[in-house]
Amino acid sequence: MNLYEYLGKDIFRKNGIPVPDGYLVEKKEDVRKYEKPVVVKSQILLGGRGKSGGIKFVKSEADLKPAVDSLLGSEVRGLKVTRLLVEEMIDIRKEMYVSFSLNRTERKPMLMATVEGGVEIESLPHDKIFLRLIDPLMGYSDYIAKEAVKFMQLEPAIAAQFRSLLAKLYEIFNKYDCELVEINPLVITGEGKLIAADAKVVMDSDSLFRHREFNVIDPEKTPLELEANGRGYSFVELQGDIGVIANGAGLTMATLDALTLHKGKPRNFLDLGGTDSVDIVIDAFDLVLKANPKTILVNIFGGVTKCDTVANGIVEAKKKYGIKQPIVVRLSGIHEEEGREILKKNGVDAFSDMMSAIETAVKREGGN
Ligand code: GDP
Ligand code: MN
Repeated sequence: MNLYEYLGKDIFRKNGIPVPDGYLVEKKEDVRKYEKPVVVKSQILLGGRGKSGGIKFVKSEADLKPAVDSLLGSEVRGLKVTRLLVEEMIDIRKEMYVSFSLNRTERKPMLMATVEGGVEIESLPHDKIFLRLIDPLMGYSDYIAKEAVKFMQLEPAIAAQFRSLLAKLYEIFNKYDCELVEINPLVITGEGKLIAADAKVVMDSDSLFRHREFNVIDPEKTPLELEANGRGYSFVELQGDIGVIANGAGLTMATLDALTLHKGKPRNFLDLGGTDSVDIVIDAFDLVLKANPKTILVNIFGGVTKCDTVANGIVEAKKKYGIKQPIVVRLSGIHEEEGREILKKNGVDAFSDMMSAIETAVKREGGN
């Protein structure tokens, strides 16, 4: 998950990396009295805002409101701007670059640093970049920072700040399960202070159960998706009216595809995951029901999750929630006969083949 700059900077601030003073603006009334020159920055999940007019430099009181008005609600790089970060303007002497990222080929964290910051790192010649893989077993150590300092030829006063910053940045990289923490530009101010003028933090989405506070603010998710993710399900809301419960991301995707092929419109993606538990099935129904589908289609290939467990979950959920919508089920794999038997006894349509279930669900939804 990609974090907005203001959230990345919150993490930096909390963990001792210097960032400019600033505040968030979501509506015009949030704008505070002008006291000193500020930078008004569009909060979008793309870089290159500077070059695309997404950042305004405000040097007088009269310019503040117009800057906010022109950015809030506008589009920058094709993305709608709903939040702005208003920050004290920094006096920039030099722009540098530093990041820790996950090098997937080497399976190690990687430090990149260069004194040529402010531009995209990809555009720089390799020999300008200090690059070092970090052995995860050895961990990060100050000698790495010393090597970086030497390579970058930083003067002693800056070098000391840089070494301390690097250690904190690596701590953040680990603590927040990041794929990337990037400061570009890392600024040397006129007074010789290091400060993070930008923040790019990408967290591993699979670690969000450890960082619930960020899960709740993922700007790209609906409230129901956040609730479902918080309860441990992969769940995506869609625009149709057939609720879908399946197991495994691949089978769930295939179910959506097959539904669409038969002119059915899925209301959601819900992957039960691979746990053999009646409660997980019941809980999944709770979520899908909240999306108000007209029909519910369950498509299970029994393996770790056994078909009779799912069948029992469906029967229990029907009782518990008094489900009125038609439920159409496909059960195949481990304990499929037992599962279908349980469902039939309880008046639920059960098929062994996927296309029959899908065709039935689409017909049911049509009111037949
Ligand atoms: P990006 O273009 O989306 O990566 O946004 P950045 O936050 O990196 O800002 C782009 C550029 O705007 C920086 O490289 C700086 O040159 C400039 N900039 C950002 N903040 C300040 C500031 O406080 N003072 C000054 N003078 N320039 C700034
Ligand atoms: Mn930047």
